[in-house]
Amino acid sequence: MSMDLPDALRDELLVHEGADLGPRTTLGVGGPALCVIEPRRREELILAVRELTAAGLPFRMLGHGSNLVVSDAGLDEVVLHTRGMKNIYHHGEQDAALRCEAGATLARLVSVAHDMGLAGAEGLIGIPGTVGGAVAGNAGGREIALGDLLTEVTLVDPDGTTRAVPCSPKDFGYRTSPFAGHVILDAVVQLCPDGKEQIFDRMRRTLRAKAESQPLSASSAGCMFRNPAGASSGALIDRAGCKGLSVGGAQVSPEHANFIVNTGEAMAEDVRRLVVRVQQAVREHSGVDLPLEVEWWGAFEERTPVLGAGSDAE
Ligand SMILES: Cc1cc2nc3c(=O)[nH]c(=O)nc-3n(C[C@H](O)[C@H](O)[C@H](O)COP(=O)(O)OP(=O)(O)OC[C@H]3O[C@@H](n4cnc5c(N)ncnc54)[C@H](O)[C@@H]3O)c2cc1C
Repeated sequence: MSMDLPDALRDELLVHEGADLGPRTTLGVGGPALCVIEPRRREELILAVRELTAAGLPFRMLGHGSNLVVSDAGLDEVVLHTRGMKNIYHHGEQDAALRCEAGATLARLVSVAHDMGLAGAEGLIGIPGTVGGAVAGNAGGREIALGDLLTEVTLVDPDGTTRAVPCSPKDFGYRTSPFAGHVILDAVVQLCPDGKEQIFDRMRRTLRAKAESQPLSASSAGCMFRNPAGASSGALIDRAGCKGLSVGGAQVSPEHANFIVNTGEAMAEDVRRLVVRVQQAVREHSGVDLPLEVEWWGAFEERTPVLGAGSDAE
């Protein structure tokens, strides 16, 4: 597709034509997008959505790129990367509620909440995504998911109008959200006052437990597979003898079998081949089909794996 970007976007926004997506993801694989636009303020995101829609140019939202595998060929679409929109501030009169822009990381949310003596978000520490990505996928840890804390999400409609949508925990499921597929501008997170020391203690405990079981410093997209009903994908992969298995630069983490890590020079195609081998091995060993948790962007050499459904919490 040739790049015929509206003048209003070229003139006013940060535009990177043909930018590689690999470095914008935590797994670090993947080719270029048609163009990456980085809105720095809410008005810029609204402008981009309105102009791209009016021009008929397909686009996708990118947060921290921590739940993605992008194909080596890249993506024939525009990508709106929210990393410049990271403000977090008090929501109106409610001192214990924070309004977070889509590009604010969960790490920043947890840190700001701690500094303000606000509790509730500690269980999200160690998840490397943005608020936008976490709202879209209801990211969470063992005890809490972001959807448990949300009271309102602001969306941008295709014509550029914004809409504040009230929500509550019952609207969310295990890694599912009513806001997936929409453009998320910001979200209101409801917390409650507590002592900073107590909050910090819970942050430390959560992070320690996560770091003990997951390769947090390796390049990965987190858990590659959802847990099938009543089972743990990591345990199934381990039992099928796949820990440490590698294809090219992609390897099943020796630390946590549900993580596929990039050992340095992985291509997206290595990741895809390894995923297929792991799925085959688990099917042969336990008769279980492992559903994918991570999203796949762009075209792959063979079958593009599809996101599986019907699974349990980690
Ligand atoms: C080391 C590691 C540990 C992890 N641990 C966990 C964990 O414990 N629990 C967990 O749930 N996940 C975990 N993950 C996965 C990942 O961090 C989460 O899924 C996270 O919420 C993804 O957010 P993101 O900003 O990176 O989204 P991206 O990967 O950038 O995008 C993911 C999806 O969200 C959409 N999206 C992003 N921003 C917006 C927006 N503003 N509006 C609309 N849609 C948007 C994208 O279009 C895409 O569909 C882990 C990942 C890693 C690498």
